[in-house]
Amino acid sequence: VPALERAESLITLIPDYPKPGILFRDVAPLLADGPALRAVTDALIAPFAGEFDVVTGVEARGFLLAGAVAIAAGVGLVPIRKAGKLPRPAASADYTLEYGTATIEMHDDIPVGTRVLLLDDVLATGGTIAAAKDLVARVGGIVTGTAVLMELEGLGGREILGDPRLHHIFRG
Ligand code: 5GP
Repeated sequence: VPALERAESLITLIPDYPKPGILFRDVAPLLADGPALRAVTDALIAPFAGEFDVVTGVEARGFLLAGAVAIAAGVGLVPIRKAGKLPRPAASADYTLEYGTATIEMHDDIPVGTRVLLLDDVLATGGTIAAAKDLVARVGGIVTGTAVLMELEGLGGREILGDPRLHHIFRG
């Protein structure tokens, strides 16, 4: 698909961001391009079409994809936020980052059994997605699909998640 090839070419490698030694994949130029955003939106949905009732994305870049996917798929969106941002009762999950820990939260008022498509921009060690899956389960949802723009290989994310249907559009 030429539009997807173009989308991949727009992901920009930034050396030593946010720390020395890290090669950051900047997806902002892809998001800024209309046809590329359209193409990745459709590609995130395709394997899971008809299998989810809502979409969720992890703050902040996951939100951008979740908004696009929700509109394209005709479903709603439930955000997963960094700790302390949600106004109503929420579940929370702690996870390990490359340096330190973080906490994410999700309102706990989705109907029990809601089928959730979970999105993020980049899968690295898998800690973020694992915590997000834990959160969805604890608020009574069922993650029926997980999709990322880019899966970084060799960091153990796929192994930690143990999901044979884990979907990436691009590999890094
Ligand atoms: P993990 O928890 O899988 O180690 O890291 C994934 C999380 O960190 C995602 O939420 C993702 O947004 C962010 N992340 C890690 N590395 C990169 C990167 O190279 N580029 C971008 N855009 N995000 C990254």
